[in-house]
Amino acid sequence: MIGLSVRLGRGHKWYLIVLILINLLARTGPAMSADAYAQAKSDVQVLASVDFAGRANDSDGSRLAQNYLRARFKETGLEALPQAPDFSHRFSLSAGLTRVEGVNLVGKIAGQHSSQYIVITAHYDHLGRENGQMYLGADDNASGVAAMLFLASYVAENPLYHSVLFIATDAEERGLFGARAVLEQPLIERDKLLMNLNLDMLARVGKPARLYLSGEKTHASFMGITRAVNQQMAALSADPIKVIKAHRQPKGRRSLLNQINYRRASDHAVFAEYDIAYLFFGVGDHRHYHTPYDTAENIDFEQFNIVLETAKALSILADAAMQDTAVK
Ligand SMILES: [Zn+2]
Repeated sequence: MIGLSVRLGRGHKWYLIVLILINLLARTGPAMSADAYAQAKSDVQVLASVDFAGRANDSDGSRLAQNYLRARFKETGLEALPQAPDFSHRFSLSAGLTRVEGVNLVGKIAGQHSSQYIVITAHYDHLGRENGQMYLGADDNASGVAAMLFLASYVAENPLYHSVLFIATDAEERGLFGARAVLEQPLIERDKLLMNLNLDMLARVGKPARLYLSGEKTHASFMGITRAVNQQMAALSADPIKVIKAHRQPKGRRSLLNQINYRRASDHAVFAEYDIAYLFFGVGDHRHYHTPYDTAENIDFEQFNIVLETAKALSILADAAMQDTAVK
């Protein structure tokens, strides 16, 4: 549409610009308040603080994170499911010879027109302490959880077409156990789960800034969604972050060991196993990945604000894309 204005006369140009703006507003939704960005920054800082000690599954730091997330879910206006009172979905998993406990935090916001769900996931667990060092996991994945809460506050004010289930998953780092529990002890019938938007590592966008989106091929309605996000962000932001379609095995100069298998990299892999469409959104690999340097101090929060807007545009587009196929 923007390209068209070049070929038209001056009078038409303004008319077209107004049309474009109306169109974009309709599709990207109302803007968020400055408070919402400050809150997201604070969510990253709290979750990645030394007090929470890297949020290892079944640790004291994890329990502090759970309490924090319960309070944030409540404050944001999420509704608890009867099967997960107080937003807590408990499960057990084996760690070596013993069984340990995992806790996912789950809340929902009803859709305007459909009781089928878009499931937005972000794991809150990280590595905790290892070899005397603390792995705080600011990017991995306090950033994804903060973005999920940002989206929840948007959806609470501006409900989508579909219902949305927000899940902060536990024990992802141990092997996607939280996501597996969601699908194996279903909180909601599986055929009501339309798609998964998985947010894992959103803050360390690098230079030049890049975000990766994979899963466009998991549903016919997702075709072109990467390009659509880029177009919307180019119109909204003076300095958009380019979203790149991620493939299963990216080619390039990475060594074999560093290659990311985007299909298996995080919680969305479990949804894929159950033939549920997914979009996996994140920054990919970086030099501080799974190191003690993945801290809040190393995050550029100005850039993170653009990431939050991009995630918002993406979720609105995914909700719209799914309307064609939804059963009400
Ligand atoms: Zn992660």
